[in-house]
Amino acid sequence: MSYIQASCLYIVATPIGNLQDLSARAIETLSEVDVICCEDTRHSKRLLEHFSIKGKLQSLHDHNEKDKSSRIVEWLQSGQSIALISDAGTPLISDPGCYLVNCVKQAGFDVIPIPGACAIIAALSASGLPTDRFYFEGFVPAKSSNRKARFESLKEFEHTWIYYESPHRITDSLKDLQSVLGGERIICFARELTKTFETIRKDSIENILQLMHDDHNQTKGEFVIMVQGIVVDKSEENEAAISLLRLLIDEKIPLKTAAKIAAQHCDDKKNKLYKLALSWQEQL
Ligand code: SAM
Repeated sequence: MSYIQASCLYIVATPIGNLQDLSARAIETLSEVDVICCEDTRHSKRLLEHFSIKGKLQSLHDHNEKDKSSRIVEWLQSGQSIALISDAGTPLISDPGCYLVNCVKQAGFDVIPIPGACAIIAALSASGLPTDRFYFEGFVPAKSSNRKARFESLKEFEHTWIYYESPHRITDSLKDLQSVLGGERIICFARELTKTFETIRKDSIENILQLMHDDHNQTKGEFVIMVQGIVVDKSEENEAAISLLRLLIDEKIPLKTAAKIAAQHCDDKKNKLYKLALSWQEQL
């Protein structure tokens, strides 16, 4: 029995290369809904045909999203169920659909995600860069001066940051990144994810540029660039704890006791402060 609800918009993720990444739930949803909205009907028709899905396709792209959204709301009002897909990956992630989702919500209908492939998440999961916090910039500007300004604003960011780049600009973009962050900054270069010539390489910007210079194929395809955030020296962070520690040691308080008092008073870690005090003693 179908689980598809009437008058509901399903946001369905599709593969970013490997067709086997279309989930069973996505196939069922696309097979059962009344209408499938997509960016390019010819492109999506091929995906549907591969899975023998006979969906009724309607185009929804950046240029017609506003007009189309009111019609989609009318279809929902008449009880139809709708799916939204993009050319690849998760709709709304650097793809159309945000305006539509808001119209549908305002009209009081449910919006249900059918999750699956998404280039940033796939790239990040295999990058080896910290993933506990990250920032996604989307596509960076095409013009070099604007792009450099964006990189400049992210230069001191402490967490991993990520952007999408097109094959026409990848080399210039990485050269700009090098000129703003320096060639030694670690990045992860993810290319053609889930496809035959997938490359995922974590290295300095200068080494990635060298890789692209040595092998021209590395400049082709689709890219996710992940940049390691700046490494903050945590020992410098709690200046109050360090000052108190110095004061106590100058007063000949034993190191362990001094570290304990400074940690308690300044909300820091006793062991970290003790190690710091020991390192001062070794330098004497
Ligand atoms: N909605 C998509 C998603 O969920 O990832 C992103 C759509 S955005 C218009 C297209 C960009 O995503 C590409 O230019 C590239 O930067 C990135 N991308 C998509 N597929 C990719 C892949 N297989 N490998 C690497 N990057 C990919």
